[in-house]
Formats: sequence, C-alpha cells, structure tokens
Amino acid sequence: MSEEKETFDTTGFKKINNLYIDPKIFTFKFKCKCSGECCHYGVYTDKKEHDQILELKERVMELFDETQSKNIEKWFEPPEEDEDFESGVAVGTEVINGKCTFLDKNGLCTLQRLANLDGVDKWEYKPMYCILFPLTIYENTLTIDDEHIDRLKTCNVEPVGETSIFEACREELKYFFGEKDFQNLLKIKEQYSKVLESGENDGRK
Ligand code: SF4
Ligand code: SF4
Repeated sequence: MSEEKETFDTTGFKKINNLYIDPKIFTFKFKCKCSGECCHYGVYTDKKEHDQILELKERVMELFDETQSKNIEKWFEPPEEDEDFESGVAVGTEVINGKCTFLDKNGLCTLQRLANLDGVDKWEYKPMYCILFPLTIYENTLTIDDEHIDRLKTCNVEPVGETSIFEACREELKYFFGEKDFQNLLKIKEQYSKVLESGENDGRK
C-alpha cells in the first residue's frame, strides 16, 4: 500500500485502489440466514459480465427448469450508463416468475451451478454485485446496501447476532480484492478499531 492510500482523504474514508471504504462495514451487524430473497429482484451486471453470460447461454439454458425462460431476449433489461461498473455500463437481469432470470425453482443460481459443474471457481460466472451483496459499490464506495436490505422481508431480521457484515462477507471480500488488497482492508479495519477505541471520532473526521 502506498503512503497516499494510508492517509485519510478529504471525506475521511480510506481508499484501496481508488475505491473508498465505508468504515460502517466493520461495525454493522449482519447475519445471512434466509434462502435467497436477495435474488428475487434481479441484479445489475457489468456489461462484460452480461457478455460472458451470453457466451455461455446454451449451457446455462440446459440447466434451466420450467420456471425460467429460454428466450434470451427476456433475460436482461436495456443497458444503462453507470460509472460504478468497470465498463461504465450496467445491465440488469430481468425478474421472471418473481425471481431473477437465473434463479431456479430450488432457489439456486444457475450461473453458480454451471461453474460448479465446470469445476471452476464457484463465482466464476456470477455477477460481482451478487457476490458482494449485502455489500455494494455505490458512488465509488464499498458500502452497505442498506436500502436493499431494508426492503427485504427476511434479510438480517432479529436477532442479528454479533457478526459484522465484514466478517459475514469475509470470503467475498477476499475474492473481490484479492489477497494483497484484502490485507490492506484488514489494516484499515485495525486503524478504524483504534479510532473507535480512542473515542476521538467515527473514522470520518
Ligand atoms: S443476503 Fe439477506 S436476502 Fe440474501 S440470502 Fe442472506 S439473509 Fe437472505
Ligand atoms: S445472477 Fe444468480 S446470484 Fe445473481 S441475482 Fe440472479 S440468481 Fe441471484
């Protein structure tokens, strides 16, 4: 990590590779224990992820059940510009029969099932926003998707327990950042804990 990344920026949030880190991720309590309501609303994919999914369309379709549509015209919403996505373009998955195009009747993601069958990483074909949820990237900041959590009936309901969203999403964060930058994230976590212990401020200055 460079000196620049070690210092607080003007908003008070630390950065990793130009992505702001919302310190709330280290303290917000979260417990994931429902059967996947977050997949009922679809998801935004990066245009590159959308293209990769379409390259796999024949094999994805082979795994679909009768609740899913084999008409690929119905799989995605129109693309829209969004700077929070690597390519600058986001494409939403459509909701079919009350769930994401890719969610099967057993509550499993077809993209993950295909990855498992292919023997590649379980998240290889899955959109990053699905992997990260209930974390999200909003306005170039890694933060909590609290709006989406709030509208879900089964997500993080009481009792929430003592696990932070950071701990609940540790594996996902490691996947997102890679080992080296995940270590940088751990350093930010430590620094934030010290700020809280000292009682000086909430880490945002
Ligand atoms: S993130 Fe929330 S909605 Fe999704 S599976 Fe976990 S508890 Fe359920
Ligand atoms: S792509 Fe898979 S993980 Fe993402 S919302 Fe759809 S079913 Fe869920």
